[in-house]
Amino acid sequence: MLRQVKRVVVKVGSQLLAEQNGLNRNFIAKIAEELSILKKEGNEVILVSSGAVLAGIKVLNLSRKPKSLQEKQALSAVGQPYLMAAYTEAFKKHGYNIAQVLLTAEDLRSKRRFTHAKDTFHALSKLNVIPVVNENDTVSVKEIKIGDNDNLAAHVSVVVEADLLIMLTTTDGIFDRDPNTFPDAKKIDIVNDISELQLTCDFSGKSSFGTGGMWTKVEAAFKAARKGIPVIIANGREEKITVRILKGEKRGTLFLPKKELKAKAYRILYLEKPKGKLIIDRGAAEAVINKGKSLLPKGVKIIEGTFEKGDVVEVLDVNGKTLFKGIVRCSSRELYSFDKECIHRDDMVFL
Ligand code: GLU
Repeated sequence: MLRQVKRVVVKVGSQLLAEQNGLNRNFIAKIAEELSILKKEGNEVILVSSGAVLAGIKVLNLSRKPKSLQEKQALSAVGQPYLMAAYTEAFKKHGYNIAQVLLTAEDLRSKRRFTHAKDTFHALSKLNVIPVVNENDTVSVKEIKIGDNDNLAAHVSVVVEADLLIMLTTTDGIFDRDPNTFPDAKKIDIVNDISELQLTCDFSGKSSFGTGGMWTKVEAAFKAARKGIPVIIANGREEKITVRILKGEKRGTLFLPKKELKAKAYRILYLEKPKGKLIIDRGAAEAVINKGKSLLPKGVKIIEGTFEKGDVVEVLDVNGKTLFKGIVRCSSRELYSFDKECIHRDDMVFL
């Protein structure tokens, strides 16, 4: 499977990019060298890189991390050009040009913008340029924020229809416990479904694991896997790690690709922010889950939040367990008096 990969997305996080004096130039040189090898071997490479805020802190000589969202946005704006300058210089040594691509969640939710982004990636590939992607932090406030680059990388792999996503971190993959705290933690080689991991692993130790923690990484990896894209989480400090992975060497943790989710299902599940919640009674839950029915208004017990026709909502059973997400065919105001199905079968996606 891995030897057939042609288009690969590689994600590098802040932990790999940080050093005492700001950006770790050695790591940037290392990753530029590896990715250039992959390019020369005929692959298409897309890099998703954090490090803007980090670089901003260094440029302005600040002694602490930013606290408020505005401060982070400002520091990202300061640091992003420095980050790009570092990559430009590093890739130039190998004869490659790079391109900056900044995205928000909004760009991925909108079909039109999603397509535009995809076309641009395609055009960049034709120009033999390596896109370096980050979240557009300066405008990413709550509603439109992806929030972490693990999820951004998963979404980017979907946009470019990658054959493989490699998420580089500072551990050798996923472990059943935090390997920095527990030396006997066991590495997991292959993940088929994340529910297995939930039962057997403890991901609560979060501090040593970068922005979102290991669970964020696992969840993000699983999103891409559900879109049919294999994902490998591996140690970015290992020599030529990405090159070795594409040669078929067994490194890190591999998330096996699942049967591919449709684009609409991916959007409902992972890109849209649910505008409300519907709590449904047992009868309705049974009809939807076991009988393949649509959801009728009479099965809805409680409505939370305000939504309009066409919005995505989360649907829960009476015990508070989320059953599925779906697109509503009426607003929250109309729901109880609506005489047709409020969520049609075709617009439901089960978790
Ligand atoms: N976009 C942020 C930055 O470049 C990083 C977010 C993350 O690391 O997940 O600083």
